[in-house]
Amino acid sequence: MRYSRLFSKTIKEAPADEVSINAKLLMRGGFVDKLMAGSYSLLPLGRKVEQKIEEIIRQEMNKTGAQEVLMPLLHPKEIWNETGRWETAKDVMYQFKKNDKEYTLSFTHEEIMLDLVRKHAFSYKDYPVKIYHFSTKFRNELRAKSGLLRGREFLMKDLYSVHTTEQELNDYYWDVAKAYLEVFKKVDLEVRVVEAAGGVFTDTHTHEFQAFCETGEDIIYYCENCDFAENKEIAKVKEGEDCPKCKEGTIKVARSIEVGNIFRFGTAYSQKMNITYTDVKGEKQYPYLGSYGIGVTRLIGTIVELFHDDRGIIWPENVAPYKVHLIQIQSSKFKVQNYNSKVKSFAEDIYNKLIEAGVEVLYDDREDVSVGQKFADADLIGIPYRLVVSDKTGDKIEVKKRDSDKMELLSFEQLLKKIKS
Ligand code: ATP
Ligand code: MG
Repeated sequence: MRYSRLFSKTIKEAPADEVSINAKLLMRGGFVDKLMAGSYSLLPLGRKVEQKIEEIIRQEMNKTGAQEVLMPLLHPKEIWNETGRWETAKDVMYQFKKNDKEYTLSFTHEEIMLDLVRKHAFSYKDYPVKIYHFSTKFRNELRAKSGLLRGREFLMKDLYSVHTTEQELNDYYWDVAKAYLEVFKKVDLEVRVVEAAGGVFTDTHTHEFQAFCETGEDIIYYCENCDFAENKEIAKVKEGEDCPKCKEGTIKVARSIEVGNIFRFGTAYSQKMNITYTDVKGEKQYPYLGSYGIGVTRLIGTIVELFHDDRGIIWPENVAPYKVHLIQIQSSKFKVQNYNSKVKSFAEDIYNKLIEAGVEVLYDDREDVSVGQKFADADLIGIPYRLVVSDKTGDKIEVKKRDSDKMELLSFEQLLKKIKS
């Protein structure tokens, strides 16, 4: 991608009302744009990051045997009345009336998924059902001040499963928990699985995936030695106590961000919606439901909260919008004398060869900005490798990682070897 052609460029200042680090850096870097509080556009760079995260999640979901679908966002009141959530969750929903009919925008999809099950899975032979999608959720969030961490409209991956036995639901629930840990590992987050209350979703305990982050809204108590962790809201332990699980570690307190949450509903929803399947004996039974969410756009915000310095974002390699950021620097002497200088044609050559080699590259080909500006933009955007070609680098390329000050002069072949290892 030529930076001169990229739709969204860096900006000097984020809007004054933007307080969170993630929104400030993402807006300044040209990743997102704010329409209103809690409502952001993903610009080309932001969308690329989102797609990387989405693909990591998709792979892990598919490994659990789940299948991808896409469910509607506009829902009729009737379906929400079947579980009573039109009333019980009305504070969080965007409900409205049009031509005498009432609707809501989606804040979750349990009812919609169970309606699909009702129409497409009839016998125990059709079970288990495991379906997921990536889609927008609308929630009437009162405090939308944390940028991508808390949107009124945001992207979620939500997976739903129905099973013929509780045991099978439990087994799959823990399979998904493992898959989630795999996802968070791949995006470089340190996460704890935390037991928590179910809110408007369920009376039974759920499990949240909390990423350690000093700017997070949540507080968790965790063991420094084993995987024990509890949300502050329900915590039975205190800071400094011995861990009730391993008995060896000490309980510590940390701030965190909830990046995922998994739920077991048993047969509560299928009973309310009267959804049944026929078992081996030909009798009608209520299936067991589980649901599993990851906040995709919240993950982008979390990564930025964790990985940045005073110059900008430092993307983990797996989610960076591009692998390398190529900069060509022409001294003013060359520019005046000969527009198509050696440096420029060498940079163009490197750009084309990188694309041919399958390396994702953002190429700052601009003629009319200073070297200082190009470096500052590269730091702000935060792509893992910065490559510089100038009249000082000769037939080599200067390579620097975003998170280091060490520079190396490498040939094209050496560069490829380095970034592909
Ligand atoms: P929170 O407690 O932070 O308000 P929640 O418990 O209401 O979140 P869930 O219903 O569990 O959220 O949604 C599943 C996942 O979706 C969450 O774990 C989180 O990662 C993400 N998520 C929830 N609300 C938002 C939001 N307003 N903006 C961005 N992501 C969100
Ligand atoms: Mg939750």
